[in-house]
Amino acid sequence: MSHAQVIVVDVFIADSLVKKSEQESAMLQVSDAEAIIFNLVQPLDKKWDRELVTLLTAIDRILAIPVTSQLDFPHWDNSAMDGYAVRYEDVSGATKDCPTVLEVVEEIPAGVKPLRYIQSGQAARIFTGAVMPEGADTVVMQEQTQKQGDRVLILAAPKPQEFVRHRASFYQAGGQLLPPGITINPAEIAVLAAAQCREVTVYRRPRVAILSTGNELVAPDELLHPGQIVDSNQYALAALVAQIGSEPVPMGIVRDRPEQVKKAIAQAISVADVVLSSGGVSVGDYDYIDKNLEQLGATIHIRSVGIKPGKPLTVATFPKPKTQQSVLYFGLPGNPVSALVTFWRFVQPALRKLSGLANNWQPKFVLARTRYDLTSDGKRETYLWGQLHLVDGNYEFALASGSPSSGNLINLAQTNGLAVLPVGQTHIPAGEQVQVLQIN
Ligand code: AMP
Ligand code: MG
Repeated sequence: MSHAQVIVVDVFIADSLVKKSEQESAMLQVSDAEAIIFNLVQPLDKKWDRELVTLLTAIDRILAIPVTSQLDFPHWDNSAMDGYAVRYEDVSGATKDCPTVLEVVEEIPAGVKPLRYIQSGQAARIFTGAVMPEGADTVVMQEQTQKQGDRVLILAAPKPQEFVRHRASFYQAGGQLLPPGITINPAEIAVLAAAQCREVTVYRRPRVAILSTGNELVAPDELLHPGQIVDSNQYALAALVAQIGSEPVPMGIVRDRPEQVKKAIAQAISVADVVLSSGGVSVGDYDYIDKNLEQLGATIHIRSVGIKPGKPLTVATFPKPKTQQSVLYFGLPGNPVSALVTFWRFVQPALRKLSGLANNWQPKFVLARTRYDLTSDGKRETYLWGQLHLVDGNYEFALASGSPSSGNLINLAQTNGLAVLPVGQTHIPAGEQVQVLQIN
């Protein structure tokens, strides 16, 4: 490194240290940071950010436009039972001792169009799902009948219109079958298939660029020299992004050199809707993210949040060329546990909102009984990881065993909930209730 370069770097460091210490007092409460972030999220554009997918590939995608059908559901009056289609007035007095006798004039299996008009004194043998014949208004289930040649004895009076599913009683053609902004689950696939939608318009997947910063980082397949650290964040974040239906754009490891960091951020914002970087947002000598964001013209909205683990957290936006939208930038802490916790707490709901979900994108908290004592220093909102279990219909939270240090990535495995200790609360004894953030 030349002398000139050293000076440039030093100025950089001094500058960012001043910035950070100025901002320490501006450390935001979690709920305030959440409000700022959710407010910054502009959902994908329902007109431009959409694509056609085939029915079977539509699973887990988010519907971008309402689905309507020209079909009524049911398409025709049809039978809900195997039995006999009758005229109610004919059989209203039928009993076991005094059955009504009807002439069976037709047999109507499912899929067949009835040909006969049912006159008084007549019935049609009918099966579940088969179209009701004209003239008939009620179905008598076969258990209440007795076949005698080409006649049937009705042994009990049905209710008027019993076991008839009326045309359009479930859905009337032209109405909204499915609203936009919902996730397409298997039930929606069934509805779409029934409506003969072979293609569906869904939101495109948000693109999320992922950058890892750090001189110490190596890829998992590289030889680990003394002092080096495997870049687990790149993989964890890509998996988290993919799990919620966004498209991860892995951008590799960036060294802690201002020019490299700047170049990488510039590239990331040009290809993605959201950028996640990890590392370099703290007050260390090699933390260049915020400075570079400013130099690239970002608006920085958050620099630090009172959350543990995860205090250094930068949130910024860049205007997106030729659109009303902006690129959302999350500078996550490098510490792997902090990176995951801040993703779950802030990034996951933001991405879900951005994806086009109309509802249910917010974080989900449940009240659970803690099995073990939970402790915190009370200074920041504290998230303790562990497992949420349903026991006899009630949630229980079991703190992960082993050290709860934010340096301990290993006991994060199997986590499906984060217990929350609010600011000021230093202890929740075993057996008491605690709010738990569900993360999967
Ligand atoms: P930083 O936020 O850059 O100060 O990093 C905090 C801690 O997290 C350091 O111990 C880093 O080595 C570690 N770290 C940073 N980035 C990563 C990463 N991508 N994967 C795993 N550990 C990381
Ligand atoms: Mg670092």
